[in-house]
Amino acid sequence: MDLDNLKIALENEPKYRIKQAKEAIFKNFISDWDKATFFSVSLREKLNKECPLEIKAESLVSKSKDSIKTRITLKDGFLIESVLMRHKDGRNTVCVSSQVGCPLECTFCATGQMGFKRNLEPSEIIEQVLFFSRYLKKSGKKVTNVTFMGMGEPFLNYDNVMKTVRMLNDKELFNIGARNISISTAGIIEGIEKFSNEGLQVNLAISLHAPNNELRSELMPINKKYPLGKVMEAVNNYIKKTNRQVMFEYLLTKDINDTIYYATELAKIMKNPLYYVNLILYNPTGHNNFQPSTTDRVKKFKDILSKKKIIFSQRFRFGEDIKAACGQFAGKK
Ligand code: SAH
Repeated sequence: MDLDNLKIALENEPKYRIKQAKEAIFKNFISDWDKATFFSVSLREKLNKECPLEIKAESLVSKSKDSIKTRITLKDGFLIESVLMRHKDGRNTVCVSSQVGCPLECTFCATGQMGFKRNLEPSEIIEQVLFFSRYLKKSGKKVTNVTFMGMGEPFLNYDNVMKTVRMLNDKELFNIGARNISISTAGIIEGIEKFSNEGLQVNLAISLHAPNNELRSELMPINKKYPLGKVMEAVNNYIKKTNRQVMFEYLLTKDINDTIYYATELAKIMKNPLYYVNLILYNPTGHNNFQPSTTDRVKKFKDILSKKKIIFSQRFRFGEDIKAACGQFAGKK
């Protein structure tokens, strides 16, 4: 697929053609210009050549059918992964990648182990949402939510991610409400600062995973550059400006960060009515010796948070059998 040439390809056409083309792509979700019968045959041929709509992808459906992972081949041959999660309440959430690979090297994450290749263009992030929009159209459904929690660090591709957010939000395009879009960052402070001034209702999530610098630096090397205290300061400034809730993602890995000590430490730094903790059971990646926490440990951890009146939830685990769960995106065959 190549949307970047669309404007150029339609340059010599009357203005309304762009509107028609956008409608065909983003409202009717066509995957071949031949379906755009309101265009002349020659224009359709030209568009198919210069801005093909075909998405090269292979998909896997989880046993429970509630999640689908797709691996898209980009123009230059790089592979990225995205997942559709079909919630019981009717939400259809697409988790998109923002980079090919990731430079952050978090020890628990499969993407971090593949290294960083390049940033994604807005059209390449959009392509992931279009893929699932086309898929859902068959059953009369739509993508309702988008999370930037796939491969990559969204705030290291800030401008392209924001352009994408505006396209997702655009009534003429996807018309997905800002409140239904979430961006997760490992704590890139400049990104959080810029994001505070966007005037958007998009949700912010912080990958926390440890309540102190010592353990956090061990798990997430980026913590050495952006230490916890500075990240929390940036988050608090964000809250001051936006008065919006912030989600803190906390992986539960057996004996690493799931002890009573860490739960107590976590509770100490989460005492703010606009913070909430999202516990994620560690998903095995095959790259390390980490294990998910035991059921008993998870319960104890949650009991401590409850006792300390911390607002928290546990993330539903979608697509583990197809390696489509958090941290399992590696863009490999
Ligand atoms: N770079 C961004 C977004 C991508 S990761 C960030 O760090 O927030 C999306 C979420 O999945 C993050 O909270 C990440 O830490 C988490 N994650 C990574 N590896 C995981 C694993 N193996 N199991 C469960 N969650 C994981």
